[in-house]
Amino acid sequence: MIPRPEHNISRANISRNALKVMYRLRDAGYQAFLVGGGVRDLLLGREPKDFDIATDAHPEDVRRLFRNCRLIGRRFRLAHVFFGRDIVEVATFRASDQEEGGDEDDTLLVKDEEGRILRDNRYGTIDDDVWRRDFTANALYYNIEDFSIWDYAGGVDDIRAGVLRLIGDPEDRYREDPVRLLRAVRFAAKLGFRVEPETEQPLTTLAPLLESVPPARLFDEVLKLFLSGHGVASYDLLRRYGHFHQLFPAVDRLLDSEAGEPYRALLLASLQNTDQRVAADEPVTPVFLFSVLMWGPVRRRAAELEEAGEPPIQALLLAADEVMDAQQSQVAIPRRITAPMKELMVTQLKLNRTRGKRVLGLLGQTRFRAAYDFLCLRAKVGDADPALAEFWTQLQELDEAQRIAAVDPGRRRPADGATEEQPQADGEDPARPRRRRRRPRRRKPGGGTD
Ligand code: ATP
Ligand code: MG
Repeated sequence: MIPRPEHNISRANISRNALKVMYRLRDAGYQAFLVGGGVRDLLLGREPKDFDIATDAHPEDVRRLFRNCRLIGRRFRLAHVFFGRDIVEVATFRASDQEEGGDEDDTLLVKDEEGRILRDNRYGTIDDDVWRRDFTANALYYNIEDFSIWDYAGGVDDIRAGVLRLIGDPEDRYREDPVRLLRAVRFAAKLGFRVEPETEQPLTTLAPLLESVPPARLFDEVLKLFLSGHGVASYDLLRRYGHFHQLFPAVDRLLDSEAGEPYRALLLASLQNTDQRVAADEPVTPVFLFSVLMWGPVRRRAAELEEAGEPPIQALLLAADEVMDAQQSQVAIPRRITAPMKELMVTQLKLNRTRGKRVLGLLGQTRFRAAYDFLCLRAKVGDADPALAEFWTQLQELDEAQRIAAVDPGRRRPADGATEEQPQADGEDPARPRRRRRRPRRRKPGGGTD
């Protein structure tokens, strides 16, 4: 137990809502601790993403104390206390994973043949609870009663040394919940911690266990890995330990092949960009990232289909369906994401066209900005013509009359009577829009964030 004067966690850095929840629990006679990433990040002098509370109050007790409370989860029953858009998660202390009690209610702890925990709703005390947490750094408790930190597993020393260490026997712990493999990667990447050797060794050998994790849960984990500001570091580790292969087999195979070069560069550039945006507090979307991720396999399959006679847009749509269907059994990408992904990909083909008034219609599309960003990224790594990206950059800076002139099909070839709809061949060097007057012009408001 580390008393208040011997650590740097101050209530000033804990959210008001989390404090409110803890005080109310304490006032009702329960124990209340800040736990997990909140304690870890505060000890590291970082700003926690969220604040999780652990208590000896049962979920039903918590619900009685808070009007604004919902119970969630079957596998792990938890209370969510709502303050507007802020949610404070309150978990009841659980009995240890390891115990195989004789006469306990076997509907509360359910494991499969491989040792995977399917459900765990047996409640316990704080000194049971600590041993079922994953890493020592995540198993620290800050007591609202006297502001001390309770450290059963040596987490404070590990945090000071920058070591990520699984509690208990690493192999057993990964088997109980293979998502811990990805959590190891995520925390190593996010915290810049060294993974302790015994914790690290099974990361590669047990990677195939990821196959047994429900694809929807993997989707959630993948979002955290790639969209939390440490995407590049996470990606490097996922590839190193063979997790990436489990998650995105088709992408992984392509990245490893000779043809993979532009797609490796594309993915890396996109992750770098995402990390920068998160650091600058700008919004990031899974649609863009997953489009970049799937772009290589989709493009290559589309090329085959075109070869077999499908028109380009049709080929791309068919390829996207095939590639994403195959992907669903590993990481389930929900339809609300795959639908706009396909739109973003198809728009890449449409952006090849630079003549005719229809071209201007693309500028007003909801996803134009994302499509344009994607095109620029592709141009940067040699997957698209830089002159084409430049055309779209300049087009946005023109006023309406200039735009019409810039896409005029008669431009340059006034005599040949080309029609407005004449398409530009795929990949052809686009003509640049003329600029008569240099006039800096802001991009349309609202057209840019998706
Ligand atoms: P983040 O900064 O991403 O929120 P976190 O450590 O708070 O990191 P959460 O996923 O919010 O991570 O989980 C909160 C705590 O619950 C963890 O710190 C850990 O103690 C425990 N926990 C979460 N998932 C697992 C798991 N799969 N196995 C064991 N313990 C877990
Ligand atoms: Mg958390």
